[in-house]
Amino acid sequence: MTSPADVPSVPSTSLSGLYDSHMHTPLCGHAEGHPREYAQAALDAGLSGITFTDHIPMPAWYDAPWRMRLDQLDEYVGMVREAQAEFAGRLEVGLGLEADFHPGTERFVEEVLALHDWDYVIGSVHYLGAWGFDNPEFVDEYDRRDLGQLYRHYYALVEGAARCGLFDALGHLDLPKKFGHRDPDSAAALRVLDTVAALGLSLDYNTAGERKPVGEAYPAPDLLAAAAARGIGFVLGSDAHRPSEVGASFGAAAERVRAAGGRIVRYSGRVRHG
Ligand SMILES: [Zn+2]
Ligand SMILES: [Zn+2]
Repeated sequence: MTSPADVPSVPSTSLSGLYDSHMHTPLCGHAEGHPREYAQAALDAGLSGITFTDHIPMPAWYDAPWRMRLDQLDEYVGMVREAQAEFAGRLEVGLGLEADFHPGTERFVEEVLALHDWDYVIGSVHYLGAWGFDNPEFVDEYDRRDLGQLYRHYYALVEGAARCGLFDALGHLDLPKKFGHRDPDSAAALRVLDTVAALGLSLDYNTAGERKPVGEAYPAPDLLAAAAARGIGFVLGSDAHRPSEVGASFGAAAERVRAAGGRIVRYSGRVRHG
């Protein structure tokens, strides 16, 4: 294994060979732009491919305003397949989902995943109990919480996401830092990384954090290094909710992952490449 110092720092002006594997569509109710516009943006940016990972349908009681309904799933698949056909030979377009891990909903998620042939499925934790902790509307709740306890609870859920066997990668690993609330202790996160490595899962290396108050990709540099040291692969994702965000900061992101000794991977047909 090469140490970070052995890796030459090549300025990445070209995004050729890179894939953006985390992006959304208007079906989730909080994104804009047709899949074909995301694909065109990727082509213009020089990416080799993209994978759509819109928010998975969940049981009706869970986070309904922020995702497509189950009866819209075929429309989603159809839109992505259309973009796939339209850009064939120019840009690889994959079909995926960002699934939520929320205890009790695993069977529902499993049933949704059985409905189509996905290329890539991300498992994300967006809720601590009934609190959507990454929603800016509810950010005040952080002031009422003990951050150490909050992160231990969060990573226990992420551990569940890793172990449930439904996902290829974990989404935005250290998401509770989004508004600047840092984990006071990395022990729980490191335990999750041990599990991720043991199970052969990957991590979403998500540049959306750079566009949020925390101003930093998920996961943070120390977790990136710890994951790289465990041989965990990173799937680059912009988490674009509009076409202009496709491939956002990817040159620097790829350089950062490689400088940390990390491996950039991607998925098709739920098989890891790279
Ligand atoms: Zn979203
Ligand atoms: Zn997410």
